[in-house]
Amino acid sequence: MFYIGCHLSVSGGYEAMGKTALSIGANTFQYFTRNPRGRGFKRPSKEDVAALVALVKENGFAPPLAHAPYTFNPSSCEERIWQYSCESMREDIEFLEAIPGSLYNFHPGSHVGKGVETGIANTAKLLNSVITPGQGTTVLIETMAGKGSEIGGRFEEVAELIRLTEPEKRVHLGVCLDTCHIWDGGYDIAGETDRVLDEFDRIIGRERLRAIHLNDTKNPLGARKDRHEKIGEGFIGLEGFKNIITNNRIAHLPFYLETPNELDGYAAEIALLRGIRNDA
Ligand code: FE
Ligand code: FE
Ligand code: ZN
Repeated sequence: MFYIGCHLSVSGGYEAMGKTALSIGANTFQYFTRNPRGRGFKRPSKEDVAALVALVKENGFAPPLAHAPYTFNPSSCEERIWQYSCESMREDIEFLEAIPGSLYNFHPGSHVGKGVETGIANTAKLLNSVITPGQGTTVLIETMAGKGSEIGGRFEEVAELIRLTEPEKRVHLGVCLDTCHIWDGGYDIAGETDRVLDEFDRIIGRERLRAIHLNDTKNPLGARKDRHEKIGEGFIGLEGFKNIITNNRIAHLPFYLETPNELDGYAAEIALLRGIRNDA
């Protein structure tokens, strides 16, 4: 089964996202748990969440991927920013218990000049305080492009973050691999898919890989930029995506598009990618 979806707006409610996903040929989707840039947001009603959970089950969706907002910085040395990120992530994870099997993706943060090691230690401290043993949600560390002082641009940094998490919490941790980010970080996921996946396996461990963000990129390999492009229109290119989505080591994972598109563009990309897979 090919699980493919895209990022959707939460503004119409939760069940509405499920219906929109169905209308564009998706069988999963991603959404922000709260306003991605500002602080105002509203939780959905219990009924709305229950309706989405039923829709997801009836239609055999892969788990919806909740994305934490960009305003969080779990690596921050500033107490106020770290506390805000910590409390908000704890609340998000608590809320997500209502959606069984949820995935919760977050950016591991930026050390803002304090050094990679300090940044990773701060993020690990946050993970140790927001994850509850036995929780239903898997928290995903997103692989980053390594732009500015971002941590998580090297597989080694992601591995270190996982290593610093307490064992009974670590079981609830996974990784979301973003094709644009790792390409911009210098990993040739397009042409050397197997070699990059070997490296991931050696450094992080294949069992941690739980989701893929499928994005083309506006920049050449190793640019450390993070600018998403439409599928097939960037440096990864359609051949690259063919290599990625048909690789039998990751073909079972859910794929989420975060390309610069409106709904009709997403529908077209989903159809294009389904056309490449013979199990779609
Ligand atoms: Fe992200
Ligand atoms: Fe992403
Ligand atoms: Zn990005």
